[in-house]
Amino acid sequence: MLQQTQVERVKDYFHRFVTKFPSVFDLAEADEAVVLKYWEGLGYYRRARQLHAAAKLIVSDHEGIFPHDACALRQLPGVGRYTAGAISSISFDLPEPILEANSRRVLARLTHYGRPLSGNKDDQPLWDIAAAIVPRDGGAGAFNQALMDLGSIVCTPVSPCCETCPLAEHCEAYQRGSVDQIPNVPTRKSSKKINEKAYVLVHKGKLLVVRRQPGEWWEGLWDFPRGIPDRMTACGRQRRLGVIDYSVTNHKVTCQILSKMASQRPAVRRHQRWLSPLEIQKLPMTSPGRKIALLAEKHFS
Ligand code: SF4
Repeated sequence: MLQQTQVERVKDYFHRFVTKFPSVFDLAEADEAVVLKYWEGLGYYRRARQLHAAAKLIVSDHEGIFPHDACALRQLPGVGRYTAGAISSISFDLPEPILEANSRRVLARLTHYGRPLSGNKDDQPLWDIAAAIVPRDGGAGAFNQALMDLGSIVCTPVSPCCETCPLAEHCEAYQRGSVDQIPNVPTRKSSKKINEKAYVLVHKGKLLVVRRQPGEWWEGLWDFPRGIPDRMTACGRQRRLGVIDYSVTNHKVTCQILSKMASQRPAVRRHQRWLSPLEIQKLPMTSPGRKIALLAEKHFS
């Protein structure tokens, strides 16, 4: 949950999630829709699907016992080098390095690493440094956490507190007066603006919802259709229910919400359903889908 998301935002979700799925067996046996429902609103739903897949693998291949070493951990869906290093050092005190945004910045400044930081395998020299300094005789987890804390509290991206930093005398960037230039972070791509229309199609008090398909944003979650689906005819006056704005990846989307009556209720495909507002409440929905459902409820209840 903490990948890409801050602790404050995660706390409540975490408690709800572990109450619902108190063991790896509970999570492995759960239906994906239920797992996604408990993740709803937290974003990056791929994490939920991968966590679910990892739980199944731990049950089927490891008898429900979490693997300890970093190599076995990295075989689990969703577990990359950082997560494997964090689990093995913090949970099992193994001398595994970690590198994330905060520790990467500290190590780059300490060693005056001027190459652009990519956040991927191009940062290998920093991984090598992290591996070289992690303690081998115990305390690896505390060491890694201290490095991350130093980055988030002292060695901040802007105006780091070098005067009080315990590493100042070893810090190349500080000694050379180039703290402002390191790390070398490439500028982010500017976000792309998109306009779209979502449809609330109504038939006898039921609304059409569609499940996001593989390759789409929010795969596996439910939403309202963008456009009137093939084979479906709509009649009557089109009504404008409102406009919502949302962001997804590096896109900023403005979405007009329109409603129409469906003249008849055609057979739906597997990823489509006609449901009442109450039934829709129980589905795992995308965040724009949830906003559209609220708008629809206001207009049709
Ligand atoms: S001396 Fe400054 S730049 Fe160097 S590690 Fe400490 S806070 Fe970061």
